[in-house]
Amino acid sequence: MAIADPVTRGTVTPGTVTPGTVFPDTVFPDTVTPRSGAILDWYAAHQRDLPWRRPDATPWAVLVSEIMLQQTPVARVLPVYAAWLARWPSPASLAASPAGDAVRAWGRLGYPRRALRLHATAQALVERHGGQVPASADALRALPGIGSYTAAAVASFAFGQRHAVLDTNVRRVLARLVSGRELPSASPSAAERRLAESLLPEPPAVAARWSVAVMELGALVCTAARPRCASCPVAASCAWRRAGHPADGGPRRTQKYAGTDRQCRGRLLAVLRDCAGPVPGSQLEAAWADQLQRSRALDGLVADGLVDPLPDGRFALPGTHPVPGTH
Ligand code: SF4
Repeated sequence: MAIADPVTRGTVTPGTVTPGTVFPDTVFPDTVTPRSGAILDWYAAHQRDLPWRRPDATPWAVLVSEIMLQQTPVARVLPVYAAWLARWPSPASLAASPAGDAVRAWGRLGYPRRALRLHATAQALVERHGGQVPASADALRALPGIGSYTAAAVASFAFGQRHAVLDTNVRRVLARLVSGRELPSASPSAAERRLAESLLPEPPAVAARWSVAVMELGALVCTAARPRCASCPVAASCAWRRAGHPADGGPRRTQKYAGTDRQCRGRLLAVLRDCAGPVPGSQLEAAWADQLQRSRALDGLVADGLVDPLPDGRFALPGTHPVPGTH
């Protein structure tokens, strides 16, 4: 099946994709199944123009986007991603900055330990890989804080390799389309991984494009709450739709945020981010009334390396203020 795209940026040879040609608009005829072809065709027509998918996105930019997108929606990631790459266009530039600058630049993306992980990854890339992002999924997985998903995503999207990329959207689409279930299990099983691998088109560059196409289908059409089956390119072969959309049953888990330790941590960290230098404990007290919860949250931030306690009783973002005897 020929995959027609509105814009042709050139053809690639399987296995020889270099950064910047990862999502070719012309792919190989007769190498995809009709169902894969329908999703690839849909993607060609409906994909969003996202900076990390553009031909000029470097492997570092792809890696940064993957970490940011793990638990944060695209709309919130876009401005932080742009500012981050403008300031730190390479791993070496981030590695040369204090970790606290990364935490500050992370802003309100949430789960700020990701900023520390990205900083540690940048340092490891400088120390072990000459400041370059390695292409091998194994080498990527060996970096601090890079798990199987991120390694597969970066190897696929930055280097055009063939890996099953099982993010939330992909898992939901495959659960419905192939397994006839509304939602996937809490975490991917070996069987689910094998299934996802069996569905990948053979040419690595097409497999990479298929992965991002399924991801986009899950984000825009096969959404968690309201799938738009009437607009879906694979509705005719969707097992869940054909079964009449049976509900998985059981109450949906909704994550409470207000009043949690997580919200408290966010408030305390926001105080530190918004100040140019260290802050006294009294300033943190004003940010959260419950003393017990505040102490617990602050202890957690210190234990996680997101906050440095200073000898004079003040607090600072990590590495941004010299601590006598440690710097
Ligand atoms: S038909 Fe509906 S449920 Fe099935 S993959 Fe498409 S959007 Fe999802």
